[in-house]
Amino acid sequence: MRAPARPIPVALLGATGSVGQRFVQLLDGHPWFRLTRLAASERSAGRRYADAVRWSRPEPIPSALAELVLSPADELGPEALVFSALDASVAGELESAHAASGALVVTNARNHRMDAGVPLLVPEVNPDQLELLTPCRGGIVANPNCSTIGLALALAPLERAFGVRRVMVTTMQALSGAGLDGLRDHVVEDNLIPLIAGEEAKLESEAAKILGTLEGGIVRPASLSVSATCVRVPVSDGHTLSVSVELDRPVELGELRAAWESFVAPDDVRELPTAPERPVVLLDEPDAPQPRLHRDLGGGMTASVGRVRPCPLFDWKFVTLSHNTLRGAAGGALLAAELAVARGYLAAP
Ligand code: NAP
Repeated sequence: MRAPARPIPVALLGATGSVGQRFVQLLDGHPWFRLTRLAASERSAGRRYADAVRWSRPEPIPSALAELVLSPADELGPEALVFSALDASVAGELESAHAASGALVVTNARNHRMDAGVPLLVPEVNPDQLELLTPCRGGIVANPNCSTIGLALALAPLERAFGVRRVMVTTMQALSGAGLDGLRDHVVEDNLIPLIAGEEAKLESEAAKILGTLEGGIVRPASLSVSATCVRVPVSDGHTLSVSVELDRPVELGELRAAWESFVAPDDVRELPTAPERPVVLLDEPDAPQPRLHRDLGGGMTASVGRVRPCPLFDWKFVTLSHNTLRGAAGGALLAAELAVARGYLAAP
């Protein structure tokens, strides 16, 4: 594995938001990356980070960053690596501009996920998608949707071992997934909201690209089809998914369990600083997984699977859970960036 000789300076776009604050937390003391520039909207640019941000995390703002003056997100800097936690209404063009200037942009926004030249990366599942990029020439790497990541981690072992034909999924998504202001117009206590605008289309399209195969420089999507219903629930962090799957052939419970239990990341991914020991764990407690108990497994980077049982309509059904701002956003993006660095995709600073 190629670890950098010295910390790599990185910029963060969207530093004031919910995901941006997670990046700030995770990058504080990161062994490979040093946050040197924070950027947000024109509303925040020019202000000290501590003054502009509505800090919503339990730990204090890292002192070195509290004093940093925010840049506008369209200002191009010298950093070869840029993380983006920008609102999707502006992410598309801004990320393209940073990538065109030679930076590698690792984004959480939806805008470029399905672009042909953009890896939709879950490092344990499809690290070869990085080959869509030209080393050291910049580009965009996309983190999948925060619910799709958990779905893809749970499905990848089944796709590899048996083939997955059809998937029916209902999500129960945490409040933090809506961003700092996303639920202003809703009552969330004693309630759930059976609409997350645009979310179902992401679940229905992204898994096929993630689980696809790279052939002749393009991703050939996996042949599975997905039907999704997405629901916001009064949980702080952690997206829980109820999943039914139809597989390409009949499979016994033991084979299914073995597929999940034997699933490991490639060696160079396992060694990355943010990689969890196990990307997927199978939980045997009858009432697992639960967000409060299991979202932080593997430092919030492990997806858990439980309640595995026969499905009277498809073949099997189960529940899977993953942390939306760690595995589903900032943590997943850090792991993707670490892999890009380790595999030599980053231009020398
Ligand atoms: P958020 O809390 O609403 O934060 C949005 C960020 O975008 C803020 O830093 C904001 O800066 C910036 N921004 C807004 N308008 C801008 C503009 N015109 N120009 C430049 N910057 C602008 O949202 P979030 O939940 O952190 O999500 C960020 C991105 O990650 C979104 O694309 C979202 O879909 C995606 N995502 C979120 C999650 C999650 O669990 N929350 C998971 C996966 C992916 P100001 O403070 O200056 O307005």
